[in-house]
Amino acid sequence: MQPHIDWLESSVAREDREFVLRVADLWVDESSGERWPLTRARLMLETSKRGVFAAGDVRHGSIKRVAGAVGEGARSILLISQYLRGSEPRDP
Ligand SMILES: Cc1cc2nc3c(=O)[nH]c(=O)nc-3n(C[C@H](O)[C@H](O)[C@H](O)COP(=O)(O)OP(=O)(O)OC[C@H]3O[C@@H](n4cnc5c(N)ncnc54)[C@H](O)[C@@H]3O)c2cc1C
Repeated sequence: MQPHIDWLESSVAREDREFVLRVADLWVDESSGERWPLTRARLMLETSKRGVFAAGDVRHGSIKRVAGAVGEGARSILLISQYLRGSEPRDP
């Protein structure tokens, strides 16, 4: 299945212009010399566009199952809240 995300800004990195990549997928090889530009840690489902998160089938590497999509959706809420606070994770 292909994701229908032609509307998505080109500033959100995708694999072969299809599934959305997380920053964690982009910065896998620190030895390349490229460094994470922010002082805070990258958030789990964060994409290359600040404040945009990828959850479920649209995310590159997701398991393409309902339970996975629901879990990532729920996780995204916490991550967005964390992103907006600009702080460390807290229990809900
Ligand atoms: C035939 C088939 C059988 C499957 N069987 C199973 C199974 O037995 N068990 C299982 O666990 N998983 C199964 N899956 C996988 C499961 O359906 C997906 O993993 C799950 O639905 C992913 O959820 P999602 O929210 O990420 O994406 P989706 O469920 O695809 O939801 C994305 C939603 O976004 C909407 N949308 C798209 N573009 C826009 C836009 N521009 N603006 C607004 N809305 C938009 C779409 O209409 C859609 O409603 C099956 C998938 C298929 C295709």
